[in-house]
Amino acid sequence: MNCIFCNMEDNYILENKLAYAIYDKYPVGIGHMLFLPKRHVKDFFHITKEEREAIFNLIDEGKNY
Ligand SMILES: [Zn+2]
Repeated sequence: MNCIFCNMEDNYILENKLAYAIYDKYPVGIGHMLFLPKRHVKDFFHITKEEREAIFNLIDEGKNY
């Protein structure tokens, strides 16, 4: 698939079963991370409750990272 966010495996900083975090290529601030579901979705509103939970779990982890 030709989607940049679905080809980020080499750049994962953090991951869990459903979500992953990467550093933003164009950071707004130091340590700016992006949190994304592993499944290809159109936008934030298309993610499931479980994926949303997985992303927020990673954000908590990322805060301590
Ligand atoms: Zn994708």
